[in-house]
Amino acid sequence: ALSDKLSRLVKEMRGQARITEANVQDMLREVRMALLEADVALPVVRDFIARVKDKAMGHEVVGSLNPGQALVGIVNRELVATMGEGVSDINLAAQPPAVILMAGLQGAGKTTTTAKLAKHLIEKRRKKVLTVSGDVYRPAAIEQLRTVTKQAGAEWFPSSPEQKPLDIARAALDHARKQYFDVLLVDTAGRLAIDEVLMREIRDLHAALNPVETLFIVDAMQGQDAVNTAKAFREALPLTGIILTKMDGDSRGGAALSVRQITGAPIKFAGVSEKIDGLEVFDAERHAGRILGMGDIVALVEQVTAGVDMQAAQKLAAKVKSGEGFDLNDFLAQIQQMKQMGGLSTLMEKMPSQIQAKAGQVDMDKAERDIRRKEGIICSMTPAERRKPDIIKATRKRRIAAGAGVHVQEVNRLLNEFEQMQGMMKKMKGGGLMKMMKRMGA
Ligand code: GDP
Ligand code: MG
Repeated sequence: ALSDKLSRLVKEMRGQARITEANVQDMLREVRMALLEADVALPVVRDFIARVKDKAMGHEVVGSLNPGQALVGIVNRELVATMGEGVSDINLAAQPPAVILMAGLQGAGKTTTTAKLAKHLIEKRRKKVLTVSGDVYRPAAIEQLRTVTKQAGAEWFPSSPEQKPLDIARAALDHARKQYFDVLLVDTAGRLAIDEVLMREIRDLHAALNPVETLFIVDAMQGQDAVNTAKAFREALPLTGIILTKMDGDSRGGAALSVRQITGAPIKFAGVSEKIDGLEVFDAERHAGRILGMGDIVALVEQVTAGVDMQAAQKLAAKVKSGEGFDLNDFLAQIQQMKQMGGLSTLMEKMPSQIQAKAGQVDMDKAERDIRRKEGIICSMTPAERRKPDIIKATRKRRIAAGAGVHVQEVNRLLNEFEQMQGMMKKMKGGGLMKMMKRMGA
Protein backbone atom coordinates (compact mmCIF):
# COMPACT_ATOMS: atom_id res chain seq x y z
CA ALA A 1 0.00 0.00 0.00
CA LEU A 2 0.94 3.60 -0.42
CA SER A 3 1.51 4.32 3.21
CA ASP A 4 3.84 1.34 3.39
CA LYS A 5 5.92 2.92 0.68
CA LEU A 6 5.93 6.19 2.56
CA SER A 7 6.99 4.37 5.69
CA ARG A 8 9.77 2.57 3.84
CA LEU A 9 11.06 5.81 2.41
CA VAL A 10 11.07 7.27 5.88
CA LYS A 11 13.26 4.43 7.05
CA GLU A 12 15.64 4.74 4.11
CA MET A 13 16.47 8.29 4.99
CA ARG A 14 18.66 7.74 7.99
CA GLY A 15 21.80 9.57 8.82
CA GLN A 16 21.14 12.98 7.29
CA ALA A 17 21.09 16.03 9.49
CA ARG A 18 19.08 18.47 7.45
CA ILE A 19 16.10 18.53 5.12
CA THR A 20 17.27 19.44 1.63
CA GLU A 21 15.71 19.58 -1.82
CA ALA A 22 17.58 16.40 -2.73
CA ASN A 23 16.80 14.23 0.25
CA VAL A 24 13.06 14.90 0.45
CA GLN A 25 12.08 14.92 -3.18
CA ASP A 26 10.87 11.32 -3.11
CA MET A 27 9.17 11.90 0.21
CA LEU A 28 7.32 14.95 -1.06
CA ARG A 29 6.19 13.02 -4.10
CA GLU A 30 4.81 10.31 -1.84
CA VAL A 31 3.08 12.81 0.43
CA ARG A 32 1.49 14.33 -2.66
CA MET A 33 0.31 10.89 -3.76
CA ALA A 34 -1.04 10.17 -0.30
CA LEU A 35 -3.06 13.39 -0.36
CA LEU A 36 -4.41 12.69 -3.83
CA GLU A 37 -5.30 9.17 -2.83
CA ALA A 38 -7.17 10.61 0.14
CA ASP A 39 -9.12 12.61 -2.46
CA VAL A 40 -7.77 16.02 -1.62
CA ALA A 41 -8.39 18.17 -4.69
CA LEU A 42 -5.37 18.71 -6.94
CA PRO A 43 -5.06 22.51 -6.62
CA VAL A 44 -5.32 22.16 -2.85
CA VAL A 45 -2.62 19.50 -2.86
CA ARG A 46 -0.28 21.71 -4.90
CA ASP A 47 -0.79 24.61 -2.58
CA PHE A 48 -0.29 22.48 0.49
CA ILE A 49 2.90 20.80 -0.77
CA ALA A 50 4.38 24.16 -1.67
CA ARG A 51 3.68 25.42 1.84
CA VAL A 52 5.20 22.33 3.43
CA LYS A 53 8.29 22.56 1.25
CA ASP A 54 8.77 26.18 2.24
CA LYS A 55 8.60 25.27 5.89
CA ALA A 56 10.79 22.19 5.57
CA MET A 57 13.79 23.38 3.56
CA GLY A 58 16.87 23.74 5.70
CA HIS A 59 14.99 22.45 8.70
CA GLU A 60 17.41 20.80 11.08
CA VAL A 61 16.70 17.24 11.98
CA VAL A 62 16.85 16.82 15.72
CA GLY A 63 17.39 13.90 18.00
CA SER A 64 16.76 10.43 16.73
CA LEU A 65 14.67 11.52 13.75
CA ASN A 66 15.80 11.31 10.15
CA PRO A 67 14.80 13.81 7.44
CA GLY A 68 11.94 11.59 6.33
CA GLN A 69 10.47 11.39 9.79
CA ALA A 70 11.02 15.08 10.34
CA LEU A 71 9.20 15.84 7.10
CA VAL A 72 6.27 13.63 8.06
CA GLY A 73 6.16 15.63 11.28
CA ILE A 74 6.08 18.91 9.38
CA VAL A 75 3.41 17.64 6.98
CA ASN A 76 1.34 16.46 9.90
CA ARG A 77 1.65 19.71 11.81
CA GLU A 78 0.70 21.70 8.72
CA LEU A 79 -2.35 19.47 8.17
CA VAL A 80 -3.42 19.86 11.78
CA ALA A 81 -2.85 23.61 11.71
CA THR A 82 -4.80 24.05 8.48
CA MET A 83 -7.74 21.87 9.45
CA GLY A 84 -7.79 22.74 13.12
CA GLU A 85 -7.53 26.49 12.87
CA GLY A 86 -10.26 28.42 14.63
CA VAL A 87 -12.26 25.36 15.56
CA SER A 88 -14.95 26.10 18.08
CA ASP A 89 -18.37 24.95 19.15
CA ILE A 90 -21.49 26.45 17.58
CA ASN A 91 -21.58 30.19 18.06
CA LEU A 92 -24.75 31.28 19.83
CA ALA A 93 -23.69 34.83 20.60
CA ALA A 94 -26.80 36.51 19.26
CA GLN A 95 -30.00 37.96 20.53
CA PRO A 96 -32.12 34.79 20.97
CA PRO A 97 -33.27 32.99 19.02
CA ALA A 98 -29.88 32.33 17.49
CA VAL A 99 -30.52 31.21 13.93
CA ILE A 100 -28.46 28.44 12.34
CA LEU A 101 -28.79 27.97 8.59
CA MET A 102 -27.92 24.58 7.11
CA ALA A 103 -26.59 24.60 3.54
CA GLY A 104 -25.28 21.90 1.24
CA LEU A 105 -26.00 19.51 -1.60
CA GLN A 106 -28.87 17.06 -1.54
CA GLY A 107 -27.93 13.94 0.34
CA ALA A 108 -25.05 15.66 2.14
CA GLY A 109 -26.78 15.02 5.44
CA LYS A 110 -28.41 18.38 6.25
CA THR A 111 -31.61 17.01 7.72
CA THR A 112 -29.85 14.32 9.75
CA THR A 113 -27.25 16.80 10.98
CA THR A 114 -29.94 19.35 11.90
CA ALA A 115 -31.35 16.83 14.37
CA LYS A 116 -27.88 15.83 15.63
CA LEU A 117 -27.07 19.48 16.27
CA ALA A 118 -30.39 19.98 18.03
CA LYS A 119 -29.54 17.13 20.35
CA HIS A 120 -26.04 18.51 20.93
CA LEU A 121 -27.36 21.97 21.77
CA ILE A 122 -29.99 20.56 24.12
CA GLU A 123 -27.68 18.18 25.95
CA LYS A 124 -24.36 20.00 25.94
CA ARG A 125 -25.48 23.63 25.92
CA ARG A 126 -28.85 23.30 27.69
CA LYS A 127 -30.70 25.20 24.97
CA LYS A 128 -34.33 25.24 23.95
CA VAL A 129 -34.24 24.30 20.28
CA LEU A 130 -36.73 24.65 17.41
CA THR A 131 -36.24 23.15 13.95
CA VAL A 132 -37.94 23.99 10.68
CA SER A 133 -37.68 22.63 7.16
CA GLY A 134 -37.58 24.88 4.12
CA ASP A 135 -37.42 21.89 1.80
CA VAL A 136 -40.72 22.46 0.02
CA TYR A 137 -39.71 20.45 -3.00
CA ARG A 138 -39.84 17.11 -1.26
CA PRO A 139 -42.76 16.58 1.15
CA ALA A 140 -40.94 13.56 2.55
CA ALA A 141 -38.06 15.78 3.63
CA ILE A 142 -40.33 17.84 5.90
CA GLU A 143 -41.67 14.66 7.47
CA GLN A 144 -38.11 13.34 7.84
CA LEU A 145 -37.13 16.41 9.84
CA ARG A 146 -40.21 16.02 12.01
CA THR A 147 -39.22 12.44 12.85
CA VAL A 148 -35.57 13.11 13.66
CA THR A 149 -36.38 16.27 15.59
CA LYS A 150 -38.59 14.20 17.86
CA GLN A 151 -35.73 11.74 18.39
CA ALA A 152 -33.50 14.66 19.33
CA GLY A 153 -35.98 15.89 21.92
CA ALA A 154 -36.35 19.26 20.19
CA GLU A 155 -39.45 20.96 18.86
CA TRP A 156 -40.43 21.05 15.21
CA PHE A 157 -42.19 23.90 13.43
CA PRO A 158 -44.65 22.66 10.79
CA SER A 159 -44.29 23.69 7.17
CA SER A 160 -45.88 22.52 3.95
CA PRO A 161 -44.92 22.21 0.27
CA GLU A 162 -47.49 24.88 -0.63
CA GLN A 163 -45.55 27.57 1.21
CA LYS A 164 -42.58 29.62 0.10
CA PRO A 165 -39.36 28.85 2.00
CA LEU A 166 -38.98 32.51 2.95
CA ASP A 167 -42.46 32.63 4.47
CA ILE A 168 -41.84 29.42 6.36
CA ALA A 169 -38.59 30.77 7.76
CA ARG A 170 -40.17 34.06 8.85
CA ALA A 171 -43.07 32.29 10.53
CA ALA A 172 -40.69 29.94 12.34
CA LEU A 173 -38.54 32.83 13.52
CA ASP A 174 -41.60 34.66 14.78
CA HIS A 175 -42.74 31.56 16.65
CA ALA A 176 -39.28 31.01 18.12
CA ARG A 177 -39.21 34.59 19.43
CA LYS A 178 -42.64 34.41 20.99
CA GLN A 179 -41.99 31.03 22.60
CA TYR A 180 -38.54 32.03 23.87
CA PHE A 181 -36.53 29.47 21.96
CA ASP A 182 -32.76 29.90 22.27
CA VAL A 183 -31.98 28.41 18.87
CA LEU A 184 -33.75 28.04 15.54
CA LEU A 185 -32.22 25.46 13.19
CA VAL A 186 -33.25 25.99 9.57
CA ASP A 187 -32.95 22.95 7.31
CA THR A 188 -33.00 23.79 3.62
CA ALA A 189 -33.78 22.18 0.29
CA GLY A 190 -31.26 19.86 -1.25
CA ARG A 191 -29.49 20.71 -4.41
CA LEU A 192 -28.37 17.87 -6.61
CA ALA A 193 -25.85 20.10 -8.24
CA ILE A 194 -25.12 23.77 -8.09
CA ASP A 195 -28.40 25.30 -9.17
CA GLU A 196 -28.78 29.06 -9.62
CA VAL A 197 -32.42 29.21 -8.57
CA LEU A 198 -31.83 27.27 -5.38
CA MET A 199 -28.68 29.28 -4.68
CA ARG A 200 -30.68 32.48 -4.88
CA GLU A 201 -33.28 30.98 -2.59
CA ILE A 202 -30.77 30.18 0.15
CA ARG A 203 -29.17 33.61 -0.26
CA ASP A 204 -32.57 35.20 0.31
CA LEU A 205 -33.11 32.99 3.34
CA HIS A 206 -29.76 34.14 4.68
CA ALA A 207 -30.63 37.79 4.17
CA ALA A 208 -34.00 37.43 5.89
CA LEU A 209 -32.84 35.35 8.83
CA ASN A 210 -29.47 36.94 9.59
CA PRO A 211 -28.13 33.65 11.01
CA VAL A 212 -25.32 33.63 13.55
CA GLU A 213 -24.06 30.41 11.98
CA THR A 214 -24.26 29.46 8.31
CA LEU A 215 -23.04 25.89 8.18
CA PHE A 216 -21.89 24.10 5.07
CA ILE A 217 -22.75 20.42 5.33
CA VAL A 218 -20.52 18.25 3.16
CA ASP A 219 -20.20 14.53 2.59
CA ALA A 220 -16.67 13.36 3.45
CA MET A 221 -16.95 10.75 0.70
CA GLN A 222 -17.40 13.46 -1.90
CA GLY A 223 -13.75 13.65 -2.85
CA GLN A 224 -12.54 15.87 -5.65
CA ASP A 225 -15.99 17.38 -6.33
CA ALA A 226 -16.06 18.87 -2.85
CA VAL A 227 -13.96 21.75 -4.12
CA ASN A 228 -16.48 22.91 -6.72
CA THR A 229 -19.37 22.57 -4.32
CA ALA A 230 -17.48 24.46 -1.64
CA LYS A 231 -16.57 27.23 -4.07
CA ALA A 232 -20.18 27.69 -5.15
CA PHE A 233 -21.46 27.85 -1.57
CA ARG A 234 -18.69 30.15 -0.45
CA GLU A 235 -19.57 32.56 -3.25
CA ALA A 236 -23.27 32.46 -2.40
CA LEU A 237 -23.05 32.63 1.39
CA PRO A 238 -20.76 33.89 4.15
CA LEU A 239 -20.08 30.44 5.63
CA THR A 240 -19.16 30.35 9.31
CA GLY A 241 -18.51 26.64 9.70
CA ILE A 242 -18.32 23.23 8.10
CA ILE A 243 -19.74 19.91 9.18
CA LEU A 244 -18.27 16.85 7.50
CA THR A 245 -20.70 13.96 7.37
CA LYS A 246 -20.29 10.23 6.74
CA MET A 247 -16.87 10.09 8.32
CA ASP A 248 -17.74 6.54 9.32
CA GLY A 249 -17.32 5.62 5.64
CA ASP A 250 -14.05 4.25 4.38
CA SER A 251 -12.91 7.41 2.63
CA ARG A 252 -9.65 8.91 3.82
CA GLY A 253 -11.51 12.19 4.19
CA GLY A 254 -9.35 14.44 2.05
CA ALA A 255 -12.45 16.58 1.49
CA ALA A 256 -11.77 18.07 4.91
CA LEU A 257 -8.56 19.72 3.74
CA SER A 258 -10.04 20.79 0.40
CA VAL A 259 -13.15 22.33 1.88
CA ARG A 260 -11.29 23.98 4.73
CA GLN A 261 -8.81 25.56 2.37
CA ILE A 262 -11.40 26.67 -0.19
CA THR A 263 -13.97 28.16 2.20
CA GLY A 264 -11.68 29.34 4.98
CA ALA A 265 -14.40 28.27 7.41
CA PRO A 266 -13.54 26.05 10.40
CA ILE A 267 -14.63 22.42 10.46
CA LYS A 268 -16.79 22.23 13.57
CA PHE A 269 -18.20 18.75 13.68
CA ALA A 270 -17.99 15.36 12.04
CA GLY A 271 -20.91 13.03 11.40
CA VAL A 272 -19.92 9.49 12.29
CA SER A 273 -23.12 7.50 11.86
CA GLU A 274 -26.65 7.91 10.57
CA LYS A 275 -27.93 7.78 14.15
CA ILE A 276 -28.98 10.83 16.10
CA ASP A 277 -25.97 10.71 18.42
CA GLY A 278 -23.48 10.21 15.58
CA LEU A 279 -21.93 13.66 15.81
CA GLU A 280 -18.46 14.39 17.15
CA VAL A 281 -16.42 17.52 17.63
CA PHE A 282 -13.98 17.56 14.71
CA ASP A 283 -10.54 16.32 15.75
CA ALA A 284 -7.94 17.76 13.37
CA GLU A 285 -5.12 15.66 14.77
CA ARG A 286 -6.88 12.37 14.33
CA HIS A 287 -8.06 13.40 10.90
CA ALA A 288 -4.56 14.36 9.74
CA GLY A 289 -3.42 10.83 10.55
CA ARG A 290 -6.31 9.43 8.57
CA ILE A 291 -5.56 11.55 5.52
CA LEU A 292 -1.89 10.59 5.55
CA GLY A 293 -2.81 6.96 6.16
CA MET A 294 0.08 6.65 8.56
CA GLY A 295 -1.32 7.85 11.83
CA ASP A 296 0.85 5.50 13.83
CA ILE A 297 4.12 6.78 12.48
CA VAL A 298 2.97 10.35 12.76
CA ALA A 299 2.10 9.84 16.39
CA LEU A 300 5.46 8.22 17.02
CA VAL A 301 7.32 11.10 15.38
CA GLU A 302 5.39 13.59 17.47
CA GLN A 303 6.11 11.65 20.60
CA VAL A 304 9.81 11.45 19.90
CA THR A 305 9.92 15.17 19.19
CA ALA A 306 8.01 16.00 22.35
CA GLY A 307 9.46 13.47 24.74
CA VAL A 308 13.14 13.22 24.01
CA ASP A 309 15.39 15.60 25.78
CA MET A 310 17.21 16.93 22.72
CA GLN A 311 20.09 18.44 24.61
CA ALA A 312 20.76 15.25 26.46
CA ALA A 313 20.60 13.24 23.26
CA GLN A 314 23.00 15.57 21.48
CA LYS A 315 25.41 15.64 24.40
CA LEU A 316 25.38 11.88 24.41
CA ALA A 317 26.02 11.72 20.66
CA ALA A 318 28.92 14.13 20.97
CA LYS A 319 30.37 12.12 23.82
CA VAL A 320 30.28 8.87 21.90
CA LYS A 321 31.82 10.51 18.85
CA SER A 322 34.64 12.01 20.88
CA GLY A 323 35.49 8.52 22.08
CA GLU A 324 34.71 9.28 25.69
CA GLY A 325 32.54 6.24 25.72
CA PHE A 326 29.11 5.36 26.82
CA ASP A 327 28.84 4.76 30.56
CA LEU A 328 26.16 3.60 32.95
CA ASN A 329 25.05 7.18 33.57
CA ASP A 330 24.16 7.40 29.89
CA PHE A 331 22.46 4.04 30.11
CA LEU A 332 20.41 5.34 33.02
CA ALA A 333 19.61 8.53 31.13
CA GLN A 334 18.29 6.42 28.26
CA ILE A 335 16.08 4.42 30.57
CA GLN A 336 14.73 7.59 32.12
CA GLN A 337 14.15 9.15 28.73
CA MET A 338 12.07 6.20 27.74
CA LYS A 339 9.96 6.57 30.87
CA GLN A 340 9.49 10.21 29.97
CA MET A 341 8.03 9.15 26.65
CA GLY A 342 5.23 7.35 28.37
CA GLY A 343 6.70 3.92 28.78
CA LEU A 344 6.85 0.93 26.53
CA SER A 345 3.19 0.15 26.19
CA THR A 346 2.24 3.65 25.03
CA LEU A 347 5.18 3.58 22.67
CA MET A 348 4.02 0.22 21.35
CA GLU A 349 0.50 1.51 20.76
CA LYS A 350 1.97 3.94 18.25
CA MET A 351 3.85 1.32 16.31
CA PRO A 352 2.50 -0.05 13.02
CA SER A 353 0.26 -3.05 13.51
CA GLN A 354 2.81 -5.57 12.17
CA ILE A 355 5.24 -4.64 14.91
CA GLN A 356 2.43 -4.67 17.45
CA ALA A 357 1.51 -8.19 16.40
CA LYS A 358 5.07 -9.37 16.93
CA ALA A 359 5.23 -7.60 20.24
CA GLY A 360 1.99 -9.28 21.22
CA GLN A 361 3.92 -12.16 22.74
CA VAL A 362 5.88 -9.81 24.97
CA ASP A 363 4.40 -9.02 28.32
CA MET A 364 4.49 -5.23 28.48
CA ASP A 365 3.92 -4.98 32.19
CA LYS A 366 6.78 -7.34 32.81
CA ALA A 367 9.00 -5.40 30.40
CA GLU A 368 8.24 -2.18 32.25
CA ARG A 369 8.88 -3.73 35.64
CA ASP A 370 12.16 -4.92 34.24
CA ILE A 371 13.11 -1.38 33.24
CA ARG A 372 12.33 -0.10 36.72
CA ARG A 373 14.55 -2.79 38.24
CA LYS A 374 17.39 -1.83 35.96
CA GLU A 375 16.95 1.75 36.99
CA GLY A 376 17.05 0.65 40.62
CA ILE A 377 20.27 -1.27 40.11
CA ILE A 378 22.10 1.62 38.47
CA CYS A 379 20.86 3.97 41.15
CA SER A 380 22.52 1.74 43.76
CA MET A 381 25.92 2.26 42.18
CA THR A 382 28.37 4.94 43.17
CA PRO A 383 29.24 7.67 40.64
CA ALA A 384 32.63 6.07 40.12
CA GLU A 385 31.07 2.69 39.36
CA ARG A 386 28.71 4.24 36.86
CA ARG A 387 31.53 5.99 35.06
CA LYS A 388 33.82 2.94 35.09
CA PRO A 389 31.70 -0.21 35.17
CA ASP A 390 34.93 -2.26 34.84
CA ILE A 391 35.66 -1.77 38.53
CA ILE A 392 32.45 -3.57 39.51
CA LYS A 393 33.71 -6.92 40.80
CA ALA A 394 32.13 -9.50 43.15
CA THR A 395 32.11 -7.42 46.37
CA ARG A 396 30.68 -4.36 44.68
CA LYS A 397 28.12 -6.52 42.87
CA ARG A 398 26.89 -7.94 46.20
CA ARG A 399 26.60 -4.47 47.68
CA ILE A 400 24.71 -3.12 44.64
CA ALA A 401 22.36 -6.13 44.55
CA ALA A 402 21.57 -5.71 48.24
CA GLY A 403 20.95 -1.98 47.76
CA ALA A 404 18.57 -2.56 44.85
CA GLY A 405 16.91 -5.58 46.45
CA VAL A 406 17.76 -7.95 43.60
CA HIS A 407 19.91 -11.04 43.07
CA VAL A 408 23.52 -10.72 42.00
CA GLN A 409 22.63 -12.47 38.73
CA GLU A 410 20.44 -9.53 37.82
CA VAL A 411 23.31 -7.14 38.30
CA ASN A 412 25.38 -9.36 36.02
CA ARG A 413 22.63 -9.42 33.43
CA LEU A 414 22.41 -5.65 33.46
CA LEU A 415 26.18 -5.29 33.08
CA ASN A 416 26.13 -7.69 30.12
CA GLU A 417 23.38 -5.78 28.47
CA PHE A 418 25.20 -2.57 29.09
CA GLU A 419 28.30 -3.95 27.39
CA GLN A 420 26.31 -4.98 24.35
CA MET A 421 24.70 -1.57 24.23
CA GLN A 422 28.07 0.10 24.53
CA GLY A 423 29.34 -1.89 21.55
CA MET A 424 26.28 -0.92 19.57
CA MET A 425 26.65 2.74 20.51
CA LYS A 426 30.19 2.77 19.21
CA LYS A 427 29.05 1.30 15.91
CA MET A 428 26.19 3.76 15.56
CA LYS A 429 28.26 6.72 16.59
CA GLY A 430 25.53 8.05 18.77
CA GLY A 431 22.62 7.78 16.33
CA GLY A 432 19.68 5.45 16.26
CA LEU A 433 18.16 6.25 19.60
CA MET A 434 14.94 4.54 18.65
CA LYS A 435 16.69 1.33 17.69
CA MET A 436 18.48 1.35 20.98
CA MET A 437 15.34 1.87 22.96
CA LYS A 438 13.67 -0.97 21.13
CA ARG A 439 16.55 -3.23 22.15
CA MET A 440 16.27 -2.18 25.72
CA GLY A 441 12.62 -3.11 25.77
CA ALA A 442 13.16 -6.46 24.08
P1 GDP B 1 -29.93 15.96 3.11
O1 GDP B 1 -30.49 15.66 1.74
O2 GDP B 1 -28.73 16.86 3.00
O3 GDP B 1 -30.94 16.47 4.06
O4 GDP B 1 -29.37 14.56 3.67
P2 GDP B 1 -30.01 13.59 4.75
O5 GDP B 1 -29.88 14.15 6.12
O6 GDP B 1 -31.37 13.18 4.32
O7 GDP B 1 -28.99 12.37 4.66
C1 GDP B 1 -28.81 11.62 3.48
C2 GDP B 1 -28.42 10.20 3.86
O8 GDP B 1 -27.16 10.18 4.47
C3 GDP B 1 -29.38 9.57 4.85
O9 GDP B 1 -29.57 8.23 4.49
C4 GDP B 1 -28.66 9.68 6.18
O10 GDP B 1 -29.02 8.64 7.07
C5 GDP B 1 -27.21 9.55 5.74
N1 GDP B 1 -26.27 10.21 6.67
C6 GDP B 1 -26.23 11.50 7.04
N2 GDP B 1 -25.16 11.74 7.86
C7 GDP B 1 -24.51 10.56 7.99
C8 GDP B 1 -23.33 10.15 8.69
O11 GDP B 1 -22.62 10.93 9.36
N3 GDP B 1 -22.99 8.83 8.58
C9 GDP B 1 -23.72 7.97 7.84
N4 GDP B 1 -23.30 6.70 7.78
N5 GDP B 1 -24.82 8.31 7.17
C10 GDP B 1 -25.22 9.60 7.23
MG1 MG C 1 -32.88 17.01 3.77
